[in-house]
Amino acid sequence: MTRFPVQYSIRPDSPEAHLFQVRCAVAHPDPAGQLLAWPVWIPGSYLVREFARHVVGVSASSNGRPVGIRKSAKDLWLCDPVAGPLDVDFRIYAFDLSVRAAYLDPTRGYFNGTSVFCQVRGQEGAPCGVEILPPVDPRFALWRVATTLPADRVGDGGWGSYRAADYDELADHPVELGTFALAAFEAGGARHEIAVSGRHDADMPRLTRDLARICQAQIDLFAGHAGGRAPVDRYLFLTLAVGDGYGGLEHRSSTSLLASRNDLPVAGDPGVPDAYRSFLGLASHEYFHLWNVKRIKPAAFTPYDLGRENYTRQLWVFEGFTSYYDDLMLVRSRVITEDSYLEVLGRTITQVLRTPGRSLQSLADSSFDAWIKYYRPDENTPNAVVSYYLKGALVALALDLTLRRDSAITLDDLMRALWERYGRPGMGVPEDGVPALVNELTRGDYSGFFARFVDGTDDPPLAELLAAHGVTLHSRPGRGNGDRGGTPADATRRNAPWLGARVAGGDEARITHVLHDGPAQRAGLSGGDVLVAIDGIRAKGSALEERLSRFRAGDSVTVHAFRRDELIVTAVTLVEAPLDTAWLTLEAGSAPEVLARRDRWLRGTVPASPASTPPAD
Ligand code: ZN
Repeated sequence: MTRFPVQYSIRPDSPEAHLFQVRCAVAHPDPAGQLLAWPVWIPGSYLVREFARHVVGVSASSNGRPVGIRKSAKDLWLCDPVAGPLDVDFRIYAFDLSVRAAYLDPTRGYFNGTSVFCQVRGQEGAPCGVEILPPVDPRFALWRVATTLPADRVGDGGWGSYRAADYDELADHPVELGTFALAAFEAGGARHEIAVSGRHDADMPRLTRDLARICQAQIDLFAGHAGGRAPVDRYLFLTLAVGDGYGGLEHRSSTSLLASRNDLPVAGDPGVPDAYRSFLGLASHEYFHLWNVKRIKPAAFTPYDLGRENYTRQLWVFEGFTSYYDDLMLVRSRVITEDSYLEVLGRTITQVLRTPGRSLQSLADSSFDAWIKYYRPDENTPNAVVSYYLKGALVALALDLTLRRDSAITLDDLMRALWERYGRPGMGVPEDGVPALVNELTRGDYSGFFARFVDGTDDPPLAELLAAHGVTLHSRPGRGNGDRGGTPADATRRNAPWLGARVAGGDEARITHVLHDGPAQRAGLSGGDVLVAIDGIRAKGSALEERLSRFRAGDSVTVHAFRRDELIVTAVTLVEAPLDTAWLTLEAGSAPEVLARRDRWLRGTVPASPASTPPAD
């Protein structure tokens, strides 16, 4: 194997104890004493997580002789000066089931580089190698490796040596160890694989068929023509199936997904139920990041500083636009129908309408403060924070529909221009780069759009923009916990008056959030309070809506609740439920030019090949 200036090795040493053994060998350590730094965050997840807290043992040596090593900060180790090579051994506790850290037990292992590999200060840009070693215990003889780290010399099962051009590349390839199911497909001339770990019964051929269409549609979008080439040679969807979970993290040529096993498709069911649609939306989201955030990056992330927060006001572009395209690409690739897409879009609009914080925090501020607000939700979050994912997706929709109506370009053209100008040459997008590019491409002035909907807190005029594309936006009162919007009201149920609080759906009626200036807040109730009785009848989270539907707006009801262990008795004056639930319909009777515009939006017409002329419509 090649010997690199910085050479790591990692072994799942003790699966029962959740311990990885990692060695970092430095050929030419700093003669003044080598500093080793541990990342405090992982790119894509904007929260300081202090990964060094899982280091449970460390020692250093040179040619077999012990070298002194001590901590000099929460995330830094300093080694005594040595002339020759330096070997540092770490033991790392790994029992985090999320996509952001590391995990090891007798069923599987998983790690992100940021959780297991230290940075060698001064040599972060040097090429490095990593030897991925199998567990010693023969009980794990069937385990193998899944990763897109470039292989140097690997044997059966993928155990062996891998390499990376620098630390940043090393850290951007998560690694799965275990006995996962593996399937492959081709898209854009590149081999794509999906590895599914955890207990599951997923229909793997179905998964590969649907993912192939979604990936090719995105490749074509960025190529600007059908039959485009992927920007990577290989791509890997690492998927962990669990009982109840949802999450994903993007990487330069792979993604880690966490999904409920029941979200995965089952053999013999040709449909796309809600749960599978949301899994496909997640996979589509992370794949879109292959361009938008992994290659088209904010200047603030080029390079990443893994030792502290990296501030940008642009997450509404990198997460919001990605959230707009994730579901849109499902309908454009014909994996879901137009009606199904409108249902998902109606749910996104509903979620934003139910967030009072959107009138307090702008998308730009939400991006900047992600580290302390969006990623640290509490009982006040809906009142104080707007999601740059959800409102970002709606602003992307509004920008796309505005451009389609008023200019010669679309959001697809903007994404391609961002790719050509910033992504392909590897340049960071400056903080004002996106509005400036819109003005340049349209030869217009869209600064008012960004001032209102990105730097300001206005709601984009979706009803009007959708109407110009043959889609009607309807709104109605919500019907409690299970009602996520996207569909018309259930005519068999009565509307209940509104309490102005979100309540967990179980046996216990625990208030999770009290919405600003609603009846519950006016009556002195708070997040965390447990409702005991409403007008003398026991309150249940799962039956709250039914109970409230016995009253009318204007009624005053006596509420008994516990705050911690203290009983509160208060009167709540119920009000008319707000029209915070959206659904959308295709307008059959629209003018032909409106229908043509709708088709171009939902079908994403691209020319057949680079040489051919775009279709006249
Ligand atoms: Zn994302």
